[in-house]
Amino acid sequence: MDWETVIGMEVHVQPKTHSKMFCGCSVADVNEPPNTHVCEICLGMPGTLPAINRAAVEACMKTALALSCEIPRHTKFDRKNYMYPDLPKGYQISQYDLPMSVNGVLEVDGRKVRIRRVHLEEDTGKLVHAGDKLHKAWESYVDLNRAGVPLMEIVSEPDLRSADEARDYAIELRTVLRAIGASEADMEKGQLRAEPNISIRRAGTDALGVKTELKNINSFRALHRAILYEVDRQQKLLETGGTVVQETRGWSEDEERTFSQRSKEFAEDYRYFPEPDLPPLELDRAWIEELRAALPELPAIRRARLVSQHGLTAGQAAIISADRDLADLYETAVMQGAPPLPTANWIVNEVAPTGKLLDPAYLAELMTMLQAKDITRDQAREAYFESVETGRTPAEIVAEHGYRQVSDESELRVIAEAVIDANPKAVADYRSGKTQALNALLNELRKKAPQANPKVARELLLKLLS
Ligand SMILES: [Zn+2]
Repeated sequence: MDWETVIGMEVHVQPKTHSKMFCGCSVADVNEPPNTHVCEICLGMPGTLPAINRAAVEACMKTALALSCEIPRHTKFDRKNYMYPDLPKGYQISQYDLPMSVNGVLEVDGRKVRIRRVHLEEDTGKLVHAGDKLHKAWESYVDLNRAGVPLMEIVSEPDLRSADEARDYAIELRTVLRAIGASEADMEKGQLRAEPNISIRRAGTDALGVKTELKNINSFRALHRAILYEVDRQQKLLETGGTVVQETRGWSEDEERTFSQRSKEFAEDYRYFPEPDLPPLELDRAWIEELRAALPELPAIRRARLVSQHGLTAGQAAIISADRDLADLYETAVMQGAPPLPTANWIVNEVAPTGKLLDPAYLAELMTMLQAKDITRDQAREAYFESVETGRTPAEIVAEHGYRQVSDESELRVIAEAVIDANPKAVADYRSGKTQALNALLNELRKKAPQANPKVARELLLKLLS
């Protein structure tokens, strides 16, 4: 009998804020010296009081609305109590039974993944162990720069069925978070942390198996590989008469395996109770509606529109709509007269890999010249990056360099003949059936005549060789 994989995702995202969740400390960059962004509140000193960060609430609310969540009228913060050296207060302020939002959905590749809740909490500090590995460490240090940094926790229902789906879900979630400006969601900086919980069951059955939760995952690739490993581990265990233990497991990138970290705690272990130092949060309904109305078009909708209205391929639309800057550049350039398909192609191949954005009006000007075959693609590329650097218009740059594309066969014939005369070996190779030798000749021709229309040049060479 086949196994079915069941995955739910818990994703922690750092919202875009200047300060921490409950104090005025600025949010530190990863490389700043330890314990330089701390105060008596985030250090948990007695007699201090927390205050809620409005920007964090706003980012969380925008995220909840983008995920079509219901926004309950009453929400509050709770204390989650546990002892750990990176938690100076001895508790984390989180949300337990009345989260800010519930019952949302994120559509991934046409599949609806239900969102159970999106809530706000604070991050913990970080332990730094001297030595290679924890069990070899001779000393451990505590850095509290991250203690109290706001975090949104986005919890899905166990609706994902494979490592591919889990990875695509996390990528789509990041795309949405960036599009609405809720977070930069940079995984390398720890701003987005995905924690999948994984179980398997016999195909066709409904009861959930015992799940394990994976931690320490810092890339989409690692997420994918860790899930594949864990599914395989559980399957082998169950097929050989073993049982899966509910626990938290780490992912070791070096050893490419998951390992047991600690047995899973249950909610009652945390002795949750309402945070006595904060009032219940009653959000103004008009403010929520303002946020809802101000949400930009979501990536999935934009993607579909680029396909249906502009005729882009699904692949082009996915790359362009994944980045709001690229999508805005594309649409503004098209509105200013740029031809849609060549411009989409240009953005995918030249702009997305380099991240260099040109003024949309200039892009429209350049794409119009390219489409009219006034210039070659190589020349367009030169002009593009020169325009980005200097701020001058593509038309000026093209005129100054004398860029033009020669499509007139008679103009190119003399050069083509010279290339054939100068490369007898390539010519002989081509005539003996090695058709790729044509490319060598074409490259020679384009070195001598960069303005040559590649298609015309190719046809001309073929004609002369036959
Ligand atoms: Zn502080």
